[in-house]
Amino acid sequence: MTALSTTRFAPSPTGRLHLGHAMSAVLAHDFARSRGGTFLLRIEDIDPGRTREEHVAGIEEDLRWLGLKWDGPVVRQSRRLSLYAEALERLNARGLVYPCFCTRADIARSASAPHGPEGPIYPGTCRGLPDPDLSRSHAWRLDTARALAETGPLTWDDADAGEIEARPDLLGDVVLARKDAPTSYHLAVTVDDADQGVTDVVRGRDLFLSTHVHRLLQALLGLPTPAYHHHRLMIGPDGERLAKRHGALSLAELRAQGVDPKDIVEPIRAGCAPLGFRLSDN
Ligand code: GLU
Repeated sequence: MTALSTTRFAPSPTGRLHLGHAMSAVLAHDFARSRGGTFLLRIEDIDPGRTREEHVAGIEEDLRWLGLKWDGPVVRQSRRLSLYAEALERLNARGLVYPCFCTRADIARSASAPHGPEGPIYPGTCRGLPDPDLSRSHAWRLDTARALAETGPLTWDDADAGEIEARPDLLGDVVLARKDAPTSYHLAVTVDDADQGVTDVVRGRDLFLSTHVHRLLQALLGLPTPAYHHHRLMIGPDGERLAKRHGALSLAELRAQGVDPKDIVEPIRAGCAPLGFRLSDN
């Protein structure tokens, strides 16, 4: 008998869902359903500047249109900020985070900023400030080298890529709480996956690098590590991966054009991209 599994679809309500989201949602849903497990919907609405309430309703509408039903109540990260604050405080008490006063422009200007796979790595300007003035606006960053020294080497089990050694140093001292929000994607997602009992994280390969950080946070916070399934990405006609910010055709627009949701869901279930799109090679 196959063990029960819990998966989740965790969109950010900063725009309408597109075909790439449909793929994540269908794959996460089917993974759980084929094992008699649980499929959760979590709204990652921690970005106060970009979250729009109408997109929350749109997400639910789009999932229903695709024929996907989630279990239990929809969880909203904006209602769980105290959980993330508590996790941050635990790390702070161990000296594993530090306040950072830098602006994006400061970091971009810094000649010493080394380049990582996702852009400039934070050069550590605020690490070890003797007397930080916490009345000034600040973010909190993870002291990644110090954290790794505490945990020692870490791995995770990746369905496609096998056993992966966690290399959070590739992303440097990531932000765990933003200047404008009391958490960040990395901290909230790690806390929630554990709190919601997620056993299998099914998401796109665009988030593969983030898993390096999530694995470290799990070790630091004493949380279990789910199995990871990073699926290939949907590539648009222009050869670019679909993203809200590129104005990718939304599921709402496809619906308005009369597209049958079966023509989206069935190819995804067959391991292909729908509607003439294609999947990334890796
Ligand atoms: N909220 C993230 C996004 O919309 C996905 C989070 C995840 O699956 O870990 O890109």
